[in-house]
This record gives sequence, structure tokens and C-alpha cells, in this order.
Amino acid sequence: MTPSRRGEELARNLDELEHRIAAACLAAGRPRDQVKLIAVTKTFPASDIAFLHDLGLRDFGENRDQEAAVKAAELAGLIDLRWHFIGAVQTNKCASLARYAGVVHAVDRQRLVRALDDAASRAGRRLDCLIQVDLDPDRSRNPDPAARSGAAPADVESLAHAIAAARALDLAGVMAVAPLGVDPREPFAMLARISDEIRHQHPSATMISAGMSGDMEAAIEAGATHLRVGTALLGSRRHAVR
Ligand SMILES: *Cc1c(COP(=O)(O)O)cnc(C)c1O
Repeated sequence: MTPSRRGEELARNLDELEHRIAAACLAAGRPRDQVKLIAVTKTFPASDIAFLHDLGLRDFGENRDQEAAVKAAELAGLIDLRWHFIGAVQTNKCASLARYAGVVHAVDRQRLVRALDDAASRAGRRLDCLIQVDLDPDRSRNPDPAARSGAAPADVESLAHAIAAARALDLAGVMAVAPLGVDPREPFAMLARISDEIRHQHPSATMISAGMSGDMEAAIEAGATHLRVGTALLGSRRHAVR
């Protein structure tokens, strides 16, 4: 595909996606400007991000540090671009992340809070942090963190305090991926309740990052403020992604 054909394709996809988001907001009785779109560009080239930036998008999601760091360097000249790191974070990647990320979506353990805080302090930057909540009841009871994706709901409060107390981190809200094979409305409603509880003590933690290509309507209905959309905007990913 020639570069301009790809640009046209992305413009068309964005148009369709915009209609879908607007319809879901209307159905949920929410203003469109309460829902922000994060374009998940993992596996796609930096040139796609440049096209989407031309079309007005400013928020981009990546889930692997190596890939994201290269794209961030390549696109350093683009105005107002904000990188959302949406993948699991290894503590040895924090120094790299702290150089380009604006928002880290998957903060799920105390050790990671300390590592991110150290890294951001050293880089002289602040990082917005979201607590990823594991909404799968079976998995979130598992004591082995490697078997989970996100913090157990019972651990969210103490993580929120740790992030809020950190020097270089700002507690921005919560994030979740709906467990596979269940109606996403139930887990997303639970995420909204957890967000309510956190905001009692941390009023500025207003972000709810939920909803992907397949379940954005349910997320918007439940109150999501940030959608993470890949496939519906960029097409299917040809290469396997973690
Ligand atoms: C890849 C990814 C997405 C985007 O998923 P799509 O189904 O392609 O829209 C959203 N969130 C996370 C955490 C991801 O890793």
C-alpha cells in the first residue's frame, strides 16, 4: 500500500470509530468530550502514528518498552504527543519508560511504584499512574503476582496511597482489561465502583481506562474516560503480540 493510501485508510477507520464512540456516548447519555481515545499502535510503524497525529490524535498506547522507546525517539518532533504505556511493566524497564511515557496504565504492585518513582525522579519527570485492577475473581485471589494481570481489588487502596505519596508520581486513576469470556458490563461496573472509592480520598484520580475494540460500548456505558483502541483503528495486527 502506498503511504497516501494508508493515510486514507486510517482517516476512514478513524471516521467510523468516531461514529461508533459518538453513538455509544449518546446511548449512555454522556457527552462525547468525557471519553478520550488512545490509539494503540503496537506493532504498527511510526509512520502510522504520524498520520494519526495529522488527523488530530495526540494519545498513543504501546505495550513494549523497546518498541515504544524507538518510536518515541523517531517522533520526538511531533507536537503534544502523549505516550501511554499500557503493558505489564518490568522494574528493569522503568528507567527507559520514565524518559518518554506520560501515563503508565498497569501499575499493580508496591515494588513497581518504588521503581517508577526512582526512575521518574532521576529523569526529572513526573509520571501519571493508573492502577491496573484484576477483575477476574479467580485470578485476583491468586497469591502469585505473575499469574495475575493487575492488582487484586483488595490491594488497590494501599497502592493508591503509595502512588499518591511518591515524589515523582501522580495518581491518575484506574485501568482494567475485561476478563475473557464474560459479559464485560459486570467487570466494568466493578471498576467504576473501585474508581468511586479511590476518588473519595484522591479526588484528582479521575481516569478510568477501559474498553478496547471489542468492548468499548460496554466501557463507555460504565463510565470509562479513556478507551484503548488498536484493531478498530489500525487494522489487525499481523505479528503475535504479548
Ligand atoms: C493491545 C491492547 C489494546 C487494544 O486492543 P484492540 O482489541 O486491538 O483494540 C488495549 N489494551 C491493552 C492493554 C492492549 O494490550
